[in-house]
Amino acid sequence: MDRRVFLQHAAGTVVAASLPGASFAVDPARQQKMIGIQVGAVSFVDEGVSKVLDECQQSAAVNTLFVATFTYGRGIAGRQVPGQPLPDHGSQRYDTDTFFGGSYTKVNPKYYTNTAFKDFRAPDLGNFDVLEQVIPEAKKRGMKTICWYEDVFRRGLPNVEKLQEVELSGKKAATLCFNNPDYLSWLQDIAEDWSRSYDIDGIMWGSERQGALSNVLGASHAHPQPSAATCFCEFCYAKARRQGVNPERAKQGFLELEKFVLASRKGVRPVDGSYVEFWRLMLRYPELLAWESLWTSSLREAQKAIYDRVKGINPKLGVGWHIWHNNSFNPIYRAEQDLAEMAPYSDFLKIVMYQNCAGERMADYINSVGTSYFSDVPKQELLEFHYRVLDYGKEASLKDLPVTGFSADYVYRETMRAKKALEGSKTKLWPGIDIDIPTAGGNAKCTPDGTKAVVLAAFRGGAEGVILSRKYSEMKLENLRAAGGALKEVGLG
Ligand SMILES: [Zn+2]
Repeated sequence: MDRRVFLQHAAGTVVAASLPGASFAVDPARQQKMIGIQVGAVSFVDEGVSKVLDECQQSAAVNTLFVATFTYGRGIAGRQVPGQPLPDHGSQRYDTDTFFGGSYTKVNPKYYTNTAFKDFRAPDLGNFDVLEQVIPEAKKRGMKTICWYEDVFRRGLPNVEKLQEVELSGKKAATLCFNNPDYLSWLQDIAEDWSRSYDIDGIMWGSERQGALSNVLGASHAHPQPSAATCFCEFCYAKARRQGVNPERAKQGFLELEKFVLASRKGVRPVDGSYVEFWRLMLRYPELLAWESLWTSSLREAQKAIYDRVKGINPKLGVGWHIWHNNSFNPIYRAEQDLAEMAPYSDFLKIVMYQNCAGERMADYINSVGTSYFSDVPKQELLEFHYRVLDYGKEASLKDLPVTGFSADYVYRETMRAKKALEGSKTKLWPGIDIDIPTAGGNAKCTPDGTKAVVLAAFRGGAEGVILSRKYSEMKLENLRAAGGALKEVGLG
């Protein structure tokens, strides 16, 4: 639609809505807003499919379900994580003993002939097939169903070792390599299985990981040991050589970087300081940067492959990506999330803007990089530097941040920024909203007022929808209803 036609449409909408007696006219913009919620299979088993769908629809006007169809992680599947209070609905028991993960739908073997990873049906809920049970009930209520899967596995699954990444230490990682043909095929195969076997509306996939450079530097809120950085497998080596990158030099550079980070963590200051030493290593081993880019471009290739496979089966299915919270903390990771570049193979983006847990996560990130390549900078100053370069306004000090979380202004600014980056593309922006994501005891918790404010902020920033996250089984109904209150206020409830 060109700009002139668009303006005519927009003007027509306003006129129709303002005419007396025209209240029946449905604003097309309103119709297109997506109100999503992430929900795992266990909630439907515990509470009943109808009850969960009715609650989501009545409390928060949900029109799209992001069903955790596959994962080995507890972030989007399973009940409340142990050590956190159970919410005011669902089973009042933790599932520590029964949670395992995998696929919560049937696995049709005919789609997995090009991968060694074939045996991944979740055992936790017996034969319960979440798509088979939920889709007909969702359709009755006019709700869409999107299959939501993530890049989280566990060790010891049949054949999974053939797909695993290799750590800097030389050990096999629990994570799988995008350059391993068995994993690359599997990522597409499972999307094909769902696309052909069920009447779904789309697919969302997420990978909460980054390349070796940021991992060795500890540049995330999750900061694993530098020795656990990936990937140094034979497939990555071969791909690097094809691109003219020397893998042996890269590995040597990372071992030097690891030594530097481990010494910094112990408070050892290099003669010229940590930041200068970091740059010295980068200049001596440009392969460090090349290796990081290789990892990220492999992730993008995996996304493109999933997109093309699904669109080849049914172009009407929506395909999009969950973007990790580290995008809000680590400027290197943010630089890797080039939204304009991703737009051609993204029908939608769920950019994580979890306002409440962002407080303790940003503090963790600062404490981590503040003892590696930024160890010369006092941490409060380092935090202010990050607020500045990430274009946040007034947020709390390092001392207060874990107990205050981020403000609604963060969600507004992040939404505006992403909208601008996506300008001119067809990609829809659906910010991920924090509803009771666990934080450490004593740290900030979600409240109805805070929840309402961030939902309003997302729409004020121009979002085309929101995804209430991470999983229904950890959300308190009062906060879900507060999200619903905000939606009513903007005419979406
Ligand atoms: Zn690899």
